[in-house]
Amino acid sequence: MRILKVKTKPIYNVYITDGALKIKETLSPLISGEKTAVLYDENTFGLYGKFLSQTFNDKKLFSYVIKAGENSKNAENYFSLLNKLAIDGFTRKDTLIAFGGGVVGDLGAFVASTYMRGIKLIAMPTTLLAMVDSSVGGKTAINLDKGKNLCGTFYQPSAVFINTEFLKTLPEREIKCGLGEILKYRYLSKKPSDITVDNIDEKLIYNCLKIKAGIVSKDEKEKNERKLLNFGHTFGHAIEKASLFSLSHGECVAKGISFAIKLSYKYFGYNNDFLTEYEKLALSCGVDISCDFNVKELLKIAYSDKKRNGDKIDFVLINKKKKPVIVPISIEKAEKLLCE
Ligand code: NAD
Ligand code: ZN
Repeated sequence: MRILKVKTKPIYNVYITDGALKIKETLSPLISGEKTAVLYDENTFGLYGKFLSQTFNDKKLFSYVIKAGENSKNAENYFSLLNKLAIDGFTRKDTLIAFGGGVVGDLGAFVASTYMRGIKLIAMPTTLLAMVDSSVGGKTAINLDKGKNLCGTFYQPSAVFINTEFLKTLPEREIKCGLGEILKYRYLSKKPSDITVDNIDEKLIYNCLKIKAGIVSKDEKEKNERKLLNFGHTFGHAIEKASLFSLSHGECVAKGISFAIKLSYKYFGYNNDFLTEYEKLALSCGVDISCDFNVKELLKIAYSDKKRNGDKIDFVLINKKKKPVIVPISIEKAEKLLCE
């Protein structure tokens, strides 16, 4: 087992194991209070609901199950879960475990951060995306009619428990979704060779989270440096919207990275080997980075997004020294660079 310390306020540990470790010994001391709520979606409940209730048979467990999918990250589920906690008599000393992918994680964390002004939260991510990204960093969210993640808080969990065994039941497409984020970390890492995509294991997840934890601990509320974690996401989000969300987030991030790399070498004036290397890397792990959407259209969508800075967009680019940097560029200039 590997343990990663996330130095936010408060500090917490991420436990990463390949399944050999006894979950009970690690988590039992962290679960406080009398009652524990476990939030699942119907898939994670079906697959692992029994396992968790058997593991913690000495605790008063309450299982709450939501429908699987992004649409569940809504205000209705949020209030319904708060009411369930109240009806079941949860107090400020009790604990909520979010057991699932980023949807369960974001919704569960938002509930935990606001019920009685905050109860203990333990994250147990079960998708690759949630393991390498959403379970760490303290962003909680639900979606509003106007858009994704428009309502939420910053709230750090008390612990994150990652068991790579859970990936065995994860559909191939969801693995690819996580790969998009892993590819992103390669460009944020001081040692890119640490982030290789040929073997998804405990070590790779640790290396990715080490990068995220390092950035988040310096800038918890995304005032500055944390924006670097959006590498590939300006275009990624635009592609997601242009595809009317028929493509997954990770698939779009992987495509978005190739735009970001192209803009980087055009802006800073170095050669395109960097893009060729990325294309090879994506191909080697079976990630499709082709994109049929028009650059102009994507930039227009990106401009209407929240990452706008005056009349410019804050792009995360890779400079000549291969370091990620934030560069505000107007859409006209970005279009010119990308289309020339
Ligand atoms: P998800 O939670 O919808 O999970 C994807 C699918 O996999 C679901 O159908 C789920 O039921 C299923 N599943 C989960 N674990 C499984 C397992 N072990 N075996 C089989 N099936 C399993 O999606 P996701 O990709 O994990 O997360 C996406 C969400 O994360 C988005 O809402 C996004 O906004 C959010 N997100 C948040 C942050 C953050 O910092 N908070 C960062 C990135 C993404
Ligand atoms: Zn992402």
